[in-house]
Amino acid sequence: MMGKPLRIAIDGPAASGKSALAQRLAAHLGYAYVDTGAMYRAVTWAALNKGIPLTDEDAMTRLAESLDLDILPPTVADGRPYTVQVEGMDVTWALRSPEVEAAVSQVSAYPGVRRALAHRQRQIGLRGRVVMVGRDIGTVILPEADLKLYLDADLKTRAQRRYQELRDRGEIVSFEEILEAIQRRDALDQGREVAPLRPAPDAIVLDTTAMNIEEVFHRVRLLIEEQCQETTHVAG
Ligand code: C5P
Repeated sequence: MMGKPLRIAIDGPAASGKSALAQRLAAHLGYAYVDTGAMYRAVTWAALNKGIPLTDEDAMTRLAESLDLDILPPTVADGRPYTVQVEGMDVTWALRSPEVEAAVSQVSAYPGVRRALAHRQRQIGLRGRVVMVGRDIGTVILPEADLKLYLDADLKTRAQRRYQELRDRGEIVSFEEILEAIQRRDALDQGREVAPLRPAPDAIVLDTTAMNIEEVFHRVRLLIEEQCQETTHVAG
């Protein structure tokens, strides 16, 4: 690697702080922030909206292969990091609903769904200057990423963060429900056969339980600076 890492992969369980970190890093480096979870959520939302049974693997695969899905820079200044359109409709906030959240890990476990989306994701990742976030970016989508991070934090802390985030958005939710939903989703994501959630062998694992987002961002900026210096040394 020469200089700054051109492709940054960030993986980890639900609510581990991946997207907050990725957005800050992308802004800092002038890179694109690519949230692959939004794609799985969009396919899930479309299935629920069209009444396609989530248990029908073939139908779900066809949906993922053919869905008219676009991720664009924010079209509304309401705090969203990007706009997601499905068939021209703005579904950005709809993707965050409890219904989508409860169903997405069932959908993302289907090999055909993953194949369809992985292809799109890899194309975007290969362009470089990206901070890509998901569950299998370092292991499957961009194994050649220059910097791989795996964020983790204990379950209670992650549930607390998600709870606060939803409350800040004015949603009425119970802490217990959030904790259970996260736990269930992690178990499915870690236990699936294709591209299960796990750190790549060369990923840097960061436990953020006792860190806030500013501290995580600072740590990662130092990591990047160290990496840059090492390469300058080797090259020079
Ligand atoms: O990151 P986010 O919570 O939005 O992801 C939603 C779901 O999409 C995850 O729980 C997982 O089932 C799936 N996902 C995945 N692989 C990715 C990104 C997300 O399986 N690279």
